[in-house]
Amino acid sequence: MCDQLTLASAEFGLRRFNTPLIVVLAHSRCQAAELAIKSARMQPDEFSDGFASITSALRPAYDLAIETARTPNYVPKANEVAIAQAHRVADQLHRGHAVGSHVERGSVGVQVALYDVSSGLVRALTRRR
Ligand SMILES: [Zn+2]
Repeated sequence: MCDQLTLASAEFGLRRFNTPLIVVLAHSRCQAAELAIKSARMQPDEFSDGFASITSALRPAYDLAIETARTPNYVPKANEVAIAQAHRVADQLHRGHAVGSHVERGSVGVQVALYDVSSGLVRALTRRR
């Protein structure tokens, strides 16, 4: 999820600059997403807890990627975890007081997108409900 600083930055942008669009950008080849997948599939004692803050933060996105696939025993790809995380952040922004009220008024949009580090292209993704 996004931390208080990220949330506050988004709110600051809205209030100070009337930001019309917030883009929550996932990216391909995300090593944090790879770590989350690896750690979720190992026994706790098999995985170094040096990355515990990353893997625990991304575990809900890993679970969401599996839920989205609707396939038993599905192993999500890193992009799917990264995209799920971006959707979770977008949802949190919508629920936040300042951003949520601006979204309701139509004065700001929240767009989830995926940045492909190989091609440099950014693809807008449909918001899930
Ligand atoms: Zn990353």
